[in-house]
Amino acid sequence: MSGWWWREHPEALEWQREADAADAARGPGVPVGELPQFVESQQVSLRLMVLLHGGPPTPEALKEARSLSRRLLGLLPQPGPDQLCYQERWESRSRWGGEESLVCSRRTCGRCLPLKATR
Ligand SMILES: [Zn+2]
Repeated sequence: MSGWWWREHPEALEWQREADAADAARGPGVPVGELPQFVESQQVSLRLMVLLHGGPPTPEALKEARSLSRRLLGLLPQPGPDQLCYQERWESRSRWGGEESLVCSRRTCGRCLPLKATR
């Protein structure tokens, strides 16, 4: 399924413009560097570096490195909105009869993580 089907809706682009304008007026929220999730991602990243550069890799080290890589992907905030951020917010807006959902549920959404952290 394409991530852009919702934009076919006649009001979608106007909604997106208004949502972006509201974002610009509100500001980005907590700086990414201060998000607990970002701090944790840095710790995981550091551990990964130590594992991969600490000498000849053992099977255990490689296994841990794989697991840390997966964890890192779930932690590292994206530089901007998640691919599904607009779509998800648009859908919940429709579901609740015009009430716009402020944030999406994507775990690494670069737009919504800082906003969730301000709550
Ligand atoms: Zn989002």
